[in-house]
Amino acid sequence: MKFTSTRNNELLVSGSTAVLTGLAPDGGLYVPQSFPELSRKEVEAMVEMDYPERAALVMAKFFDELTYDELLNVTTRAYSTFDGDPAPEVKLEGGLYVLELWHGKTHAFKDMALSVLPLLMTALKNKVGQSETCLIPVATSGDTGKAALEGFSGVDGTGVIVFYPDGGVSNAQRKQMVTTLGDNVKVVAVKGNFDDAQTAVKKAFGDKELQEKLGAIGCKMTGANSINLGRLAPQVAYYVSAYVDLLASEQITYGDEVDFCVPTGNFGNILAAYYAKLMGLPVGRLVCASNDNNVLADFLNSGVYSLSRDFIKTTSPSMDILISSNLERLLFEFAGRDSALVCEWMKDLKEKGSYDIGGERLYAIRETFVGGYATQEEYADTLADVFDEYGYLCDPHTAVAFDVCMQYLDETDSEAPIVVVSTASPVKFASTVLESIGLSAPEDGVSALKKMEAETAFPVPASVYELFDMEERFNEVIDPANLNETVFSFAKGLK
Ligand SMILES: *Cc1c(COP(=O)(O)O)cnc(C)c1O
Repeated sequence: MKFTSTRNNELLVSGSTAVLTGLAPDGGLYVPQSFPELSRKEVEAMVEMDYPERAALVMAKFFDELTYDELLNVTTRAYSTFDGDPAPEVKLEGGLYVLELWHGKTHAFKDMALSVLPLLMTALKNKVGQSETCLIPVATSGDTGKAALEGFSGVDGTGVIVFYPDGGVSNAQRKQMVTTLGDNVKVVAVKGNFDDAQTAVKKAFGDKELQEKLGAIGCKMTGANSINLGRLAPQVAYYVSAYVDLLASEQITYGDEVDFCVPTGNFGNILAAYYAKLMGLPVGRLVCASNDNNVLADFLNSGVYSLSRDFIKTTSPSMDILISSNLERLLFEFAGRDSALVCEWMKDLKEKGSYDIGGERLYAIRETFVGGYATQEEYADTLADVFDEYGYLCDPHTAVAFDVCMQYLDETDSEAPIVVVSTASPVKFASTVLESIGLSAPEDGVSALKKMEAETAFPVPASVYELFDMEERFNEVIDPANLNETVFSFAKGLK
């Protein structure tokens, strides 16, 4: 299996190159040259498999430089850090399910991929004999940062430096990051919002002089943001596994289409569901849920992606994103894999702040995708409703998905089973959860968690409380313009 770029469909690289560089040299995203097939037989055989086996099988479809056993070693080690089943499916009623993706170390779905990526990188590095240290700058809107820090901390031959928007992440998210242990990790706040941080990191990747300086000290920059294929492939696996679980419990028979509703930011999670569909998994509709930053909902309803809007800070910060990087992969498919056309749209976005894919393509996208959004007030109410009605407590990001899911069900009378994808544990957002269910939130984090636990009976793991006693190791705040310097001085200190 080779990979090509969304901005140059003549380029072909191996899986190891795609994973170990992250971004294509032309600035495009790597995509499979063609989609591997997942047969009915394979899906049905997964009924008998555990999660690491299912994930290894799906990943083997993409990364044929590694054997199934090598990949199984990766997934087994990665998911051993999880508390029980990595991706359990909870039935709420009739055809309504929740897929919980937050049983990893940092209590958010980013662990599903970021616990795998460092081990996958190491396996691929060994395979191709790369000796340079992988230097990994990461921009985070909150959850990626900690998951990357946990994933890479202590992994030989890697170093990770995380940039988060100063004041733009929740208290618990910041605390989780700045207390991370390990010699090969660093955390830095950047003045501005997530897009400012992400843009500065992207610039660093495009800076030839910085790459040369890093090369001279034996380092090579690698992207671990959600555009890395090594993150996308493990995400495809949980959609397959969710389907298999419904088969196993005889709630569906093979071929029944299952819909998914996904709280969306950078479009990585929902794109993985689409990839599963392209591989042959019987997936029906994909409902893309946004918060007040509803650029994707507008796009899916108009065909126009426009940045002329304000960035709104919400209580679902991991979805506060205006430039959804992974959407480029969807555009590539719906452009008939015409990379020149994708380049034009990306140029329009950069120069005019918008692009228009035209009515026909929009129509084709809407055969699968539905876009909706929920305002802060709306999803707070929905969080409370879901708790009242089902006794199910969810985090604010998942509440956005529930809200949009209910809108979708009201509008369509759809009978298909639908799975709401739950991307974070309520423990990460205790204050917002308390306020949503009509209670006041104590100022300090520990009290908020204790109150949430007392009022809702949601069990808070001891590790979450312990976080608050840990020493904060990082307090640097920088201007986006100084990001390259910060990266280089971190690299010099590695090893
Ligand atoms: C990252 C994240 C999202 C958004 O996922 P994308 O793949 O970027 O669309 C949603 N919810 C939570 C809790 C997240 O951490």
